[in-house]
Amino acid sequence: MNGHAPADGDLANPKAKTSTPAFPEEELYKYLDGFPAAEVFDGSPVGRSYADFILLPGHIYFAADDVCLDSRATKNVRLHTPMISSPMDTVTESLMARNMALQGGLGIIHYNNTMEEQRREVDKVKRFENGFITDPKTLSPEDTIADALAIKERYGFSGIPITLSGGMYSKLVGIVTNRDIEFIRNKNTPLADVMTKEIETAMEGCTLGQAYDILKISKKGKLPIVNANYELVGLVARNDIKKNLEFPNANVHAGDKKLLCGAAIGTRPEDRDRLDELTKVNVDVVVLDSSQGDSLYQIEMIKYIKTKYPHLDVLAGNVVTQTQAYHLIKSGADGLRVGMGSGSICTTQEVMACGRPQATAVYKVASIAREYGIPVIADGGIANSGHVIKALASGASAAMMGSMLAGTEEAPGEYFYKDGIRLKKYRGMGSLEAMTKGSANRYFSDNKKIKVAQGVSGAVADKGSVRKYLPYLIQGVKHGFQDLGVMSVDELHKNIYNGRLRFQVRSAAAQAEGGVHSLYTYEKSAI
Ligand code: 5GP
Repeated sequence: MNGHAPADGDLANPKAKTSTPAFPEEELYKYLDGFPAAEVFDGSPVGRSYADFILLPGHIYFAADDVCLDSRATKNVRLHTPMISSPMDTVTESLMARNMALQGGLGIIHYNNTMEEQRREVDKVKRFENGFITDPKTLSPEDTIADALAIKERYGFSGIPITLSGGMYSKLVGIVTNRDIEFIRNKNTPLADVMTKEIETAMEGCTLGQAYDILKISKKGKLPIVNANYELVGLVARNDIKKNLEFPNANVHAGDKKLLCGAAIGTRPEDRDRLDELTKVNVDVVVLDSSQGDSLYQIEMIKYIKTKYPHLDVLAGNVVTQTQAYHLIKSGADGLRVGMGSGSICTTQEVMACGRPQATAVYKVASIAREYGIPVIADGGIANSGHVIKALASGASAAMMGSMLAGTEEAPGEYFYKDGIRLKKYRGMGSLEAMTKGSANRYFSDNKKIKVAQGVSGAVADKGSVRKYLPYLIQGVKHGFQDLGVMSVDELHKNIYNGRLRFQVRSAAAQAEGGVHSLYTYEKSAI
């Protein structure tokens, strides 16, 4: 197929746009080539990683945009995009979780923080109303033009509400936009002297549609939301409204329509308090974050949660064997997180000699979990959209990612430059650095004793905004499904177990052939 137009090109012909295969069902699967999943993963003692195999193409009879990626993170938590951001302190806080959910995925807030901080992060996701900014940057009349410029430089926006105290829930006295400050030389001029005092506002409780109507008439960029005392309680940005109309797949709670959000906790007694705090802000799923999930501690914690909060879903793990999976399923887990030592920052397999090649682990655990209707999350080792497809083709319902997302703007931390490349810090939660901050629980490493690191600390390249990066990944996955001739995650899963999805194991030479080769130079863009 080298050099051919992508399959969508063929389907540009309206006659080709049909969802009926060109052959009857029995002909479609008449000459099944390659090998079924069972043979690839069960037929030899060799474990498989994503790079070890390739999927054979199927018959295309639909456009890539017809592919439905709806799936599940746990028994009751649905996804429109089968991608989840990892509970790591360099990956998921509220900004990432909110953007994952807006695009149909899910973010799991890490717990390398105090329980108040973690609860606040979940709350920020929950309080986010598509289009309403609940924590805008604000200044006071005594602050200066230099302060406004600093906000503009750091966050890239102007239109800053000015309140008496300089914070939220204080009387709104003005707004400062670019136009108010751009020609004034003295940057120490107080904002009181330059701010616009006549402001269009909307009352707390207004709908996004009403806010949009006001902005349409006023032609302004920002609309402060005030309460009955004229105190600032929120802000609506014209650009955000335009952008939010772009999120038809947002992953929201069926009842209150708030964005879905998960949070990680440990299995120690104090994590029960953390759990209580998280339930106060309506967390949708808790992830029991452990590198080896088959422990008495975890089993007790699952039972405790399912007794105290029967409606709260528990994503348990991590596991890589069927026995581990069985123990957690029998204890009440609603989903299983699979992976041990496959993550980009992991050293578990080196240090502990325990783990499993990731694709085999996912296949084995998914094979037993499906008997109980429990979804499996492939966690770690995802390096491109092809790996997401392979994870799903191994039986996972979603892929959890760390390194893929850590370089985006929405990941916590600041960018820095090294050798001219823009980077962000990315560290394992079992790295000495992260454990020193408090994440030792995940690795059964007591704070007072010698710490055995199971991860490293490093950096990843800038990937821009997850608002562009995730759609790119989603589209890549949809194209992969189209090539496989499957229209949904459910159909893919069915085809794993009925043997219609065909695999080929790749030799080292085949793997080299499947990557870019024989070029003197080339550029590979992440997006
Ligand atoms: P990545 O997507 O970067 O390949 O892997 C992310 C996953 O690695 C996380 O979701 C988590 O399961 C795992 N992980 C995070 N930190 C560490 C660590 O320090 N050591 C190990 N062994 N695994 C880690």
